[in-house]
Amino acid sequence: MDVAFLGMGIMGSRMAGRLATGGHAVRVWNRTPEKTAPLAQAGCSLAPSPRRAVEGVQVVFTMLADPEALRQVAFGAQGFLDSMAPGSIWVDHSTVDPSTSRQMGANSTNRGLRFLDVPVSGSTAAARDGKLVFFAGGDAGDLETLSPLLLAMGSRIVHAGPVGAGASLKLVNNAFLAQAQAAWSESLGLAESLGLSAQVVHDAILPTHVAPAFLGFKRSKIESRDWTPEFPLKHALKDIRLALASAREAGLHLRQLEASEELFAEATSQGLGDSDISAVHEVASRTRLQVPAPYPAANPNSVDVSVIHEISSRG
Ligand code: NAP
Repeated sequence: MDVAFLGMGIMGSRMAGRLATGGHAVRVWNRTPEKTAPLAQAGCSLAPSPRRAVEGVQVVFTMLADPEALRQVAFGAQGFLDSMAPGSIWVDHSTVDPSTSRQMGANSTNRGLRFLDVPVSGSTAAARDGKLVFFAGGDAGDLETLSPLLLAMGSRIVHAGPVGAGASLKLVNNAFLAQAQAAWSESLGLAESLGLSAQVVHDAILPTHVAPAFLGFKRSKIESRDWTPEFPLKHALKDIRLALASAREAGLHLRQLEASEELFAEATSQGLGDSDISAVHEVASRTRLQVPAPYPAANPNSVDVSVIHEISSRG
């Protein structure tokens, strides 16, 4: 089948590569053209613009950073939506909020096109190995048509409901993921303050039912402080904010997620946005009390002189 794939970032490049090695004719585009070179070697053809990429293909895949990127690529000066063939299908894999997906769905339907929101669960290794899980929103018949293509990139398809349901399921997934990552780093900070190493804690707790499996994948990154991005931290912050905005629209107050937003925003302001999500560890495990705990002193005049040293050495 002739397809177009727009967005050759960490995930899109690997997913398009899977389609090409699966025997599909894939035309790719990326805002930064240099990133498309490995795809050309894998047999994909290169397009100079989103508009040109989609001409004459039956299916268009997008894997872009966020709602703003999606709008620019769909509706911008070289936007692709008006150039899609009548009756063709747009599959958006980007993680966006459900109302953005529903807007994209309505804009597609108005033009006689079909649309599905199909964000993915799984990171770089799953994308490379064709083990992604798809959270799909849209028509069941369209999903059936697409399944050979999706199964070239992934191993499981979950049909969550109508357009917007895939995006909703993905935000639920990532709201939990971000909080769990931050909570685990706080617990490791607690462990360190109590004299336990991260290795001891990982050995003891990761095999139990308490620990979600993904924490095992992040173990070596945390122990070696290797923050090479698999899932960029800036995208985790974007997902937290999309989830909070969607919750607010529904009248729901998510206090723990707000606390995670604070941690991820602080990590981003410290320059860790392009690092892996696990780099939130640098903030979550190391936050110190701002005000020194008060020293017990019934009579201030009788405080031992060593306290002066304690206070001044804490800055
Ligand atoms: P990434 O490496 O940062 O790639 C982002 C892509 O979006 C790049 O192709 C980038 O183009 C493009 N882009 C950004 N802003 C744009 C704009 N204004 N106009 C046109 N193109 C723009 O991110 P990724 O890890 O592949 O993630 C892509 C999406 O999948 C995100 O929504 C993310 O949350 C989601 N996701 C990621 C993972 C993961 O583990 N990495 C897993 C599941 C879902 P340039 O190359 O020119 O910057």
